[in-house]
Amino acid sequence: MAFNVTRRRFLQSASLAAVSIPLSKVVSAETSFTPSPLEAKGTLNEEKVAGGICEMCFWRCQLVGKKRDGRLIKLEGNPKSIDNGTSICARGNAGIKLLYDPDRLKYPLKNVGERGKPVWKKISWDEALKECSTRLKTVVDKYGPQGIAVFPHGSSAKYPMHFFERTVGTHNVSEASFYQCRGIRDMAYVATTGKPPGEKVDMPNAKAILLVGSHIGENVHVSHVKAYIKGLQRGAKLIVVDPRYSAAAAKSDIWVKIKPGTDTAFLLAIMNYLVKNEKYDVDFIDEHGEGFDEFKAGISEWTLEKAAKECELDPKQIQEVADLLADSAPSVSIHPGRHVSWYGNDFQRQRSLACLTGLLGAYYSKGGWVPGKGPKVGGVSWAKHDHGLEHNLNYNEDEEAKYPLHPPGTPTELIRDAALTGKPYPIKGCVMWGQNPIQTIPGPDKMKDVLKQMDFVMCVDVMPTDATMYADILLPEVSYLERYDLVKTGTQWDFSEKQQQYIAARFPLVEPMFERKDQIFITNAIAEGMGYKDAIPVKTVEEMVDKNLKVAGLSLDQLKKEDGIHLQDGKDPYTMPEDFEVLFYNEDVEDLGFPGVPTYIPVDQVPGGYARLLYGRVPVHTFNRTQNNTWLHQAMPENPVWVNDQVAAKLGLKEGDQVGFINSEGAKSRTTTSVKVTPGMRKDCVYMAHGYGSANPLMTVGVDAGVDDQSLITKISVDPETGAHGMRNNFVKLIKDGKVLDIPA
Ligand code: SF4
Repeated sequence: MAFNVTRRRFLQSASLAAVSIPLSKVVSAETSFTPSPLEAKGTLNEEKVAGGICEMCFWRCQLVGKKRDGRLIKLEGNPKSIDNGTSICARGNAGIKLLYDPDRLKYPLKNVGERGKPVWKKISWDEALKECSTRLKTVVDKYGPQGIAVFPHGSSAKYPMHFFERTVGTHNVSEASFYQCRGIRDMAYVATTGKPPGEKVDMPNAKAILLVGSHIGENVHVSHVKAYIKGLQRGAKLIVVDPRYSAAAAKSDIWVKIKPGTDTAFLLAIMNYLVKNEKYDVDFIDEHGEGFDEFKAGISEWTLEKAAKECELDPKQIQEVADLLADSAPSVSIHPGRHVSWYGNDFQRQRSLACLTGLLGAYYSKGGWVPGKGPKVGGVSWAKHDHGLEHNLNYNEDEEAKYPLHPPGTPTELIRDAALTGKPYPIKGCVMWGQNPIQTIPGPDKMKDVLKQMDFVMCVDVMPTDATMYADILLPEVSYLERYDLVKTGTQWDFSEKQQQYIAARFPLVEPMFERKDQIFITNAIAEGMGYKDAIPVKTVEEMVDKNLKVAGLSLDQLKKEDGIHLQDGKDPYTMPEDFEVLFYNEDVEDLGFPGVPTYIPVDQVPGGYARLLYGRVPVHTFNRTQNNTWLHQAMPENPVWVNDQVAAKLGLKEGDQVGFINSEGAKSRTTTSVKVTPGMRKDCVYMAHGYGSANPLMTVGVDAGVDDQSLITKISVDPETGAHGMRNNFVKLIKDGKVLDIPA
C-alpha cells in the first residue's frame, strides 16, 4: 500500500520538506546568495539588522536581516526569538522577493478606465488622498456612515479599520480571517469555554494529537510545525481525519478517510462511546462541566454504527480512535483548526471539538489545550462615533440578530446583499485594505458586481491583486520589511521548558522605496480630509508602537536595544482559572434557536457526475498573496488537482494531463492545471491548493498560473449561527481537450 510511510520518513519528509526543501531548491536557483568576488575580498558594506517581523503569512515570525550596500539580501529567524527561533519557512525567506518585486505598486494610481478593466494614471499623493477623502465623505453625507463597506486584511489594516468602524461609524466591516476562515471556530469555543482557542495546543507534551481537516506540514507556521514535530518525536500518536492523504495523514497512526461534511457525526459517536463506556474524565466534568446530562441525552443516538454509515467508515476505526484518545487523556491535543469555513454546518463541528476536549479533561492539562499566559501590551483608539443598531445589517427592526453568534464585524453576505439590492440601505463606498475579496469570498462574480455598483472604491495594497482592478484609486503601501508596526506577544511553545514571555515590535529592516506610504500616513490624511482631524490618535507608526509598549513598561528605544524582542519570566501555563467552565449544553445558544448540544447537520450530497471540490494550503504559498513571488512560484508554479487513481483510470486521465473545470452551476475555470493521480483521495472529491490563477496581468509571474479555485466556489452556504461562509459545497467536472468528463460514481 502506497501509504506505508514510517515515522522517521515522515519527520524527514512533509513537514521538514515543506519548510526547507522548496527553499533550498529555490535558493540554489538564485545567484544572489553565491558569494561574489567583491564579498570574498571583503570590500562590501554589510550589516545585520534585527527586529523584523515576517508577514508573508499571519504567523509573524521574528526576523533578522543581512544587508549589503543598503539592500536586504537575506532573512533569518531572530536568534532571540522563543517562538520561531532561528527558523523561518520558505515564504519567510522569500520575503526579499516581495520587497524587490518589480511588479509591486509604486505610486498612487487613478483608474481612468473601467472597474475591472482599469487604465492606470500615475497621480500625486495629494491628489489621491484628496479624491479618497472627498468621495468617501460624499458617500457618508449621502447615505450615512453605513454606506461604506470595508474589507481589511493584515496588521496594517487594523488602524484604518478602527477608523472606519469607530470614528466614521460603519458596522460594515468584514474581515476574511473571521468570515472565510476562523470566525466559526472562535465563536464555537466562546460558546463552550468562554474563550477563542487560538492554535496553542500543547503538542510537544501530548500523548495523542487529533487533527480534523488540519494539514500541518502543508499548512506551515514555523513554531507550530516545530511544536507538532516535537510532539511526534516524543512519541505522540497522530490521528488525522481527512478525505485526502495529506502530509499529516501520511505521518498518522490512524488516518480516518472520512466522507466530507460528516465530521460532526464522527465526533458525536466518539463522545457518545466515551460517555456510554465511562471513559471520560468524571472529575473534570464534576468540577468544570455544565449541562452534561442534556449533552449525554442529546448525543445518545450516535452509535458507532450509525456514524460509520454516515461517514462511510468502519465502526471499529471510530472505536479505535475513541479508545486511543481515552487512553491518552488528559494529554490529548484536540486541534481547534484554523481555516474552518467548510460546509456551512461548521459551528456545530467546532462545538464538538471543544466538548471532546472537555470530556477528556484536556483543558489546561499537560499535552492538552493550553493557551499560555502572554504579557499584555496596549493599543491606540480612535474616538468612537455613536451609531445605533438601525445601521447594523446583522439586526432586524426588532433588534434581533440574524447571525447572533457572529464574530466581530458584519457577515460578508449581508454586506454584499445590501450593496446589490439597496436594502435595507445602499452601500456605495468601498475600502479594500490588504484584502483580495475576489479570490477570498465565494461567488467572485457577485463580488465584482458589488464593487461595480459602488460610487467609489479605494484600495490599498502592496501587490496588484485581482481586487485592485476594481479600484478607482489604488494606493501603494510599504511592506512589512519597510515599516514599524505591531507588537507581538506570546510564550514559548514547549511548556516543559523554562516559562518565558516575549514582546516583539516590528522594526523596518530597509527604507521604503518609491512613493509607498504606511497605514498611519494614509489613514490620517483621509481622516483629516473627511473632517475627523480631532479624532486622530497618533501621528506616526513609531508613536503608535511606543504607546503600545508603554503599557508593558517598555519603549521603542528600549526594544531597539534588545534587538526587537523583550523577554521576561512567564507564568505556569497549566493553572486553570477557577471560574473555567465547559458548557456541554449551552442554553443561551438554544434560546437563540440553535441546538444547545452539538448536533450533526447533513450537507448537500454530491450530484451524479460531479466531485466535491476541496481546497487547502501548500507550504510555499500563502494563498494568493505570494503568487507573484519568483522564488515561491518556481517552487510550486501551479496547483495540481488531486484525482483518485481509479477515477482517473476510468476517465482516461494520466499524471500531468492538463484539465479545466466546470461546476454544477455552470461556472468554468479560466485556466487549466495538471492532474495529480493518487490513491490518496476519495473518489467523490477532487482537491487543489487555494489562491492560484490570478487574473491581473500586472502580476506578471502569478497571472494565469494554475486554476483559481475560488472562481468555482459559486454556490454560497452560510453558517446559520455565525454568518460565516462554507466553501466546500461546490461540485465540479473536469474538462480535458474541450470535453467535459463526468466523474464516475
Ligand atoms: S510561518 Fe513563514 S511566512 Fe509565516 S510568518 Fe513565519 S516565516 Fe513568515
